[in-house]
Amino acid sequence: MSLSEYRVGLGHDRHRLVVGRPLILGGVAIEFEFGLDGHSDADVLLHAVTDAILGAAGLGDIGEWFPNTDPQWHGADSKVFLQAAVRAVQERGWSVVNLDCTIHAERPKLSVHKRTIAESIAAMLEIAADRVNVKAKTGEKVGPIGRLEAIDADAVVLLGRSV
Ligand code: MG
Repeated sequence: MSLSEYRVGLGHDRHRLVVGRPLILGGVAIEFEFGLDGHSDADVLLHAVTDAILGAAGLGDIGEWFPNTDPQWHGADSKVFLQAAVRAVQERGWSVVNLDCTIHAERPKLSVHKRTIAESIAAMLEIAADRVNVKAKTGEKVGPIGRLEAIDADAVVLLGRSV
Protein backbone atom coordinates (compact mmCIF):
# COMPACT_ATOMS: atom_id res chain seq x y z
CA MET A 1 0.00 0.00 0.00
CA SER A 2 1.34 3.40 -0.98
CA LEU A 3 0.60 6.16 1.49
CA SER A 4 1.19 9.84 0.88
CA GLU A 5 -0.75 11.52 3.64
CA TYR A 6 -0.44 10.89 7.35
CA ARG A 7 -2.07 12.13 10.56
CA VAL A 8 -0.87 11.49 14.09
CA GLY A 9 -3.14 11.34 17.13
CA LEU A 10 -2.51 11.35 20.88
CA GLY A 11 -4.66 9.81 23.61
CA HIS A 12 -4.49 9.76 27.39
CA ASP A 13 -6.83 8.40 30.05
CA ARG A 14 -6.97 7.66 33.78
CA HIS A 15 -9.36 5.52 35.80
CA ARG A 16 -9.44 4.95 39.55
CA LEU A 17 -8.60 1.56 41.02
CA VAL A 18 -11.36 0.25 43.30
CA VAL A 19 -12.43 -3.00 44.89
CA GLY A 20 -15.24 -5.03 43.34
CA ARG A 21 -14.62 -4.19 39.69
CA PRO A 22 -12.88 -6.23 36.98
CA LEU A 23 -9.57 -5.07 35.54
CA ILE A 24 -9.82 -4.94 31.75
CA LEU A 25 -6.91 -3.57 29.73
CA GLY A 26 -7.03 -3.53 25.94
CA GLY A 27 -10.04 -5.84 26.00
CA VAL A 28 -8.19 -8.44 28.12
CA ALA A 29 -9.54 -9.36 31.57
CA ILE A 30 -6.63 -9.48 34.03
CA GLU A 31 -6.67 -11.19 37.39
CA PHE A 32 -6.15 -8.58 40.13
CA GLU A 33 -7.50 -7.64 43.56
CA PHE A 34 -8.69 -4.24 42.25
CA GLY A 35 -10.43 -3.12 39.08
CA LEU A 36 -11.08 0.16 37.29
CA ASP A 37 -14.04 2.35 38.17
CA GLY A 38 -16.05 4.00 35.40
CA HIS A 39 -19.34 4.36 33.58
CA SER A 40 -18.39 1.80 30.92
CA ASP A 41 -16.14 -1.20 31.53
CA ALA A 42 -13.46 1.45 32.29
CA ASP A 43 -10.89 -0.01 29.88
CA VAL A 44 -8.43 2.85 30.30
CA LEU A 45 -6.19 1.66 27.47
CA LEU A 46 -8.95 1.32 24.88
CA HIS A 47 -10.20 4.79 25.84
CA ALA A 48 -6.74 6.28 25.22
CA VAL A 49 -6.47 4.44 21.89
CA THR A 50 -9.96 5.58 20.86
CA ASP A 51 -9.02 9.19 21.64
CA ALA A 52 -5.79 8.87 19.65
CA ILE A 53 -7.69 7.58 16.60
CA LEU A 54 -10.38 10.25 16.82
CA GLY A 55 -7.73 12.91 17.38
CA ALA A 56 -5.66 11.85 14.38
CA ALA A 57 -8.68 12.30 12.11
CA GLY A 58 -9.72 15.58 13.75
CA LEU A 59 -12.90 14.03 15.11
CA GLY A 60 -12.89 15.37 18.66
CA ASP A 61 -12.75 13.04 21.66
CA ILE A 62 -14.38 9.99 23.18
CA GLY A 63 -16.43 12.10 25.59
CA GLU A 64 -18.20 13.80 22.68
CA TRP A 65 -18.94 10.53 20.92
CA PHE A 66 -19.87 8.46 23.97
CA PRO A 67 -20.86 10.74 26.89
CA ASN A 68 -20.43 9.09 30.29
CA THR A 69 -23.79 10.60 31.24
CA ASP A 70 -25.57 8.51 28.58
CA PRO A 71 -27.27 5.44 30.14
CA GLN A 72 -26.78 3.44 26.93
CA TRP A 73 -23.02 3.30 27.65
CA HIS A 74 -23.44 2.10 31.26
CA GLY A 75 -21.28 -1.00 31.60
CA ALA A 76 -20.44 -0.85 27.89
CA ASP A 77 -17.66 -2.96 26.38
CA SER A 78 -15.11 -0.31 25.34
CA LYS A 79 -14.40 -2.35 22.21
CA VAL A 80 -17.62 -0.77 20.90
CA PHE A 81 -16.09 2.72 21.27
CA LEU A 82 -12.84 1.76 19.59
CA GLN A 83 -14.50 -0.01 16.69
CA ALA A 84 -16.86 2.93 16.13
CA ALA A 85 -13.83 5.25 15.99
CA VAL A 86 -12.09 2.92 13.53
CA ARG A 87 -15.19 2.86 11.31
CA ALA A 88 -15.47 6.65 11.49
CA VAL A 89 -11.90 7.19 10.27
CA GLN A 90 -12.18 4.44 7.63
CA GLU A 91 -15.30 6.15 6.25
CA ARG A 92 -13.17 9.28 5.83
CA GLY A 93 -10.51 7.37 3.88
CA TRP A 94 -8.01 6.71 6.67
CA SER A 95 -6.32 3.47 7.71
CA VAL A 96 -4.50 2.81 10.97
CA VAL A 97 -0.77 2.45 10.20
CA ASN A 98 0.42 1.68 13.73
CA LEU A 99 -0.26 2.18 17.43
CA ASP A 100 2.18 2.68 20.26
CA CYS A 101 0.87 2.81 23.81
CA THR A 102 1.95 2.78 27.44
CA ILE A 103 0.04 1.50 30.45
CA HIS A 104 1.05 3.13 33.75
CA ALA A 105 0.28 0.70 36.58
CA GLU A 106 2.18 0.00 39.79
CA ARG A 107 0.58 -3.44 39.86
CA PRO A 108 -0.32 -5.98 38.60
CA LYS A 109 2.82 -6.92 36.69
CA LEU A 110 1.82 -6.48 33.06
CA SER A 111 4.87 -7.82 31.24
CA VAL A 112 3.25 -11.24 30.87
CA HIS A 113 0.09 -9.66 29.40
CA LYS A 114 1.59 -7.17 26.94
CA ARG A 115 1.60 -9.50 23.97
CA THR A 116 -1.96 -10.69 24.57
CA ILE A 117 -3.12 -7.10 24.92
CA ALA A 118 -1.34 -6.08 21.69
CA GLU A 119 -2.97 -8.96 19.81
CA SER A 120 -6.38 -8.06 21.24
CA ILE A 121 -6.13 -4.43 20.13
CA ALA A 122 -4.67 -5.34 16.73
CA ALA A 123 -7.72 -7.50 16.07
CA MET A 124 -10.03 -4.60 16.96
CA LEU A 125 -8.04 -2.28 14.67
CA GLU A 126 -8.02 -4.91 11.89
CA ILE A 127 -4.23 -4.64 11.55
CA ALA A 128 -1.33 -7.06 12.02
CA ALA A 129 -0.18 -7.52 15.61
CA ASP A 130 3.31 -6.25 14.76
CA ARG A 131 1.79 -2.82 14.12
CA VAL A 132 0.71 -2.57 17.77
CA ASN A 133 3.24 -1.99 20.55
CA VAL A 134 2.23 -2.14 24.22
CA LYS A 135 4.56 -0.86 26.94
CA ALA A 136 4.09 -1.00 30.71
CA LYS A 137 5.55 1.31 33.37
CA THR A 138 5.17 1.43 37.13
CA GLY A 139 4.68 4.66 39.06
CA GLU A 140 7.91 4.14 41.03
CA LYS A 141 5.74 3.90 44.18
CA VAL A 142 4.91 7.63 44.08
CA GLY A 143 1.91 9.64 42.91
CA PRO A 144 -1.56 8.25 42.14
CA ILE A 145 -0.12 5.44 40.01
CA GLY A 146 2.49 4.42 42.56
CA ARG A 147 -0.06 4.48 45.41
CA LEU A 148 -2.37 2.15 43.43
CA GLU A 149 -5.05 4.84 43.26
CA ALA A 150 -5.28 4.79 39.46
CA ILE A 151 -4.07 3.33 36.19
CA ASP A 152 -3.20 5.66 33.31
CA ALA A 153 -2.74 4.93 29.62
CA ASP A 154 -1.13 6.87 26.78
CA ALA A 155 -1.52 6.12 23.10
CA VAL A 156 -0.14 7.45 19.82
CA VAL A 157 -1.72 6.41 16.55
CA LEU A 158 -0.64 7.07 12.98
CA LEU A 159 -3.29 7.17 10.26
CA GLY A 160 -2.43 6.95 6.57
CA ARG A 161 -4.50 7.72 3.50
CA SER A 162 -4.23 5.41 0.52
CA VAL A 163 -3.46 6.95 -2.84
MG1 MG B 1 -12.02 6.62 30.25
